[in-house]
Amino acid sequence: MAVKKRSELAKEYDFKTWRDFTPMNISVGTMLHNMTGSWRFIKPIYEDKVPACQNACPAGNDIEGWIKLLQKGEYERAYWHLKQEQPFPAILGRICFRFCETACNRAPLDDCVGINDLERFVGDQVALSTPNPDLPEYNGKDLAVIGSGPAGMSAAYYSRLLGFKVTIFEELPEMGGILRVGIPNYRLPREVVASEFEGLKNMGIEFRPNTAVGKDIALDELRNEYDYIFLATGMHASMKIGVKGEDESQRIFSGLDMLKKIALGEKVELGKRVVVIGGGNSGIDCARVSRRLGAEVTIIDILDEKEIPAHPEEIEGAREEGVKFIFLSCPERIELNDDGTIRKLVCCELEPGPPDKSGHRNPVKKDADLFDMEADSILIAIGQIPLLDYLNGIVETENGLVLVNEGLKVNVRGDGRAKIFAGGDIIDMPHNAVYAVASGKRAAIAMDCDREDKDVAEVLEKIVIGDGPAISFAKYMRWDSVNQVPYNNHLVVDSEKIVYDYFNKALRVQKQIQDPDVRIASFKAFTSTFTREDAQQEATHCMHCGRCTECDNCLIFCPDMSVLYKGNDQFGYTFDYDYCKGCGICFTECPRNAISMVDEETPVEIEN
Ligand SMILES: Cc1cc2nc3c(=O)[nH]c(=O)nc-3n(C[C@H](O)[C@H](O)[C@H](O)COP(=O)(O)OP(=O)(O)OC[C@H]3O[C@@H](n4cnc5c(N)ncnc54)[C@H](O)[C@@H]3O)c2cc1C
Ligand code: SF4
Ligand code: SF4
Ligand code: SF4
Repeated sequence: MAVKKRSELAKEYDFKTWRDFTPMNISVGTMLHNMTGSWRFIKPIYEDKVPACQNACPAGNDIEGWIKLLQKGEYERAYWHLKQEQPFPAILGRICFRFCETACNRAPLDDCVGINDLERFVGDQVALSTPNPDLPEYNGKDLAVIGSGPAGMSAAYYSRLLGFKVTIFEELPEMGGILRVGIPNYRLPREVVASEFEGLKNMGIEFRPNTAVGKDIALDELRNEYDYIFLATGMHASMKIGVKGEDESQRIFSGLDMLKKIALGEKVELGKRVVVIGGGNSGIDCARVSRRLGAEVTIIDILDEKEIPAHPEEIEGAREEGVKFIFLSCPERIELNDDGTIRKLVCCELEPGPPDKSGHRNPVKKDADLFDMEADSILIAIGQIPLLDYLNGIVETENGLVLVNEGLKVNVRGDGRAKIFAGGDIIDMPHNAVYAVASGKRAAIAMDCDREDKDVAEVLEKIVIGDGPAISFAKYMRWDSVNQVPYNNHLVVDSEKIVYDYFNKALRVQKQIQDPDVRIASFKAFTSTFTREDAQQEATHCMHCGRCTECDNCLIFCPDMSVLYKGNDQFGYTFDYDYCKGCGICFTECPRNAISMVDEETPVEIEN
């Protein structure tokens, strides 16, 4: 007998009216007495969670929250909401390495959401120098921040929101650290840094530029004058390549020193041919700046292209602008002319060596494979180290970095009133701007816990976002979420929990980038901020992972009509547990995992 397919069978049952239906029992009276809730052994709860993007952002940026506000056209609220966890949207919206996008759940469907471009857009929605409108009274404690980079500025911002009276000491004439004197203007315009930090000044934070701690004022003096000190002096000494000739010519520069000079308006003569040693982000910045000064530029690095630490987008941008790369090579010696100019740079070819314990093959020299490079200037950009002499032995260090505990408190020697904390590039953590910002937030919370005699470890555990390391300032302050419901900050919604069938593929909105020949003609920014239309379009790609959007799916699918609108202008729904029999259909059909199935005993309300 031939087996019929389901579709063929379906054709045979062609219902015209209800009379064609198989007879069945239905109740014409009420069924309200049949409390099917008693059948249940697990129950659904509405539980907003942490989207994968927020979990991956070291600052714990509530991306989904401000995208939701942006979609509603509430631009100003989106701006202040974003700043709850990440205080500098206009800055990081231009230069962050976008850990969030790498984790975004949208990627398996088509492409990750353009979070960083949207962040930049939100950052431009309010005049950057606007002070935070919710400033508390001073709490009676004084904080000295040493160093005005992203770590110091972030600590200052959050400490002021916690009521501390803050003064920032900065050695240079301009505030902003590497953001101001390292990252070139075409990537991060000076006026953006200045305005975003002007907002802090307008919150009552005192700026003391041209004041080097250790030279103009001793750390001990601050230690007796302040209740708390936050050390955030970054890494400003360049590492040496250790070859003959390195210290003998005016034409061999530390890459960071060269960038600083340009940023502070000094003239730098590099000549026609520049060799940059080091293919990290600083090296690429040195190369692209040199192109803008009219030089032909080659970067040499000991690693191969796949391994060099620079961001792929930066490598591509540099190539488009005419920068050449030589991989798997290192400088052997620098030969100089009598007048100190460079005769040649002798380099050596490398090849991958035998695998180490981790399987990694460190490069080793190839015998006798030397080659010469001609250069008018050489820029060394193989990394920086901190200058910690100003600590004067007061603070414990290890391997050239300041030792801290989980609340970023340091161990001190000798007496003094101030309790000392540290963050940013001088501690052992990934060295980039968003990690520096995150450390400032962590230190501010830890100092506040110390002031209030709270157990820091216990508090940090409560407010950690997902797997960490990010912590939530909004949770610490018990601020409402955008959905006005407490969210579970320990549960992360990754791609496995998304029901992709409910989402359509779409093209990511691209920002405008100028042609390479236009770019290298000046130091002006060469990418544009999204227009409102672009931002609205890109925002629609966010799937709002782990956060209810009132899409009504649960309400439509529940076979027992046990999903009810909360009503009275309240957000979301509630379950009628007298009738919910715990089948889990609502949980399965929620596109974004904003419902959880839990044990009967679990409380329905999540603690904030
Ligand atoms: C060229 C370059 C490009 C980079 N590009 C990126 C990027 O695109 N994206 C990214 O995320 N990260 C980037 N980074 C890394 C990032 O800039 C740093 O990780 C970050 O700035 C560290 O912040 P910080 O606050 O610890 O220190 P810094 O930004 O270095 O600030 C420290 C400040 O302390 C001051 N200071 C030092 N000693 C004293 C003292 N004794 N008294 C008073 N003040 C003092 C310094 O003058 C400086 O202003 C880049 C780094 C470099 C060098
Ligand atoms: S700060 Fe960086 S990692 Fe965090 S949301 Fe912005 S772009 Fe993403
Ligand atoms: S789709 Fe939206 S909420 Fe989900 S991970 Fe990406 S940006 Fe975050
Ligand atoms: S679909 Fe309805 S009956 Fe099933 S678990 Fe959800 S609320 Fe309860």
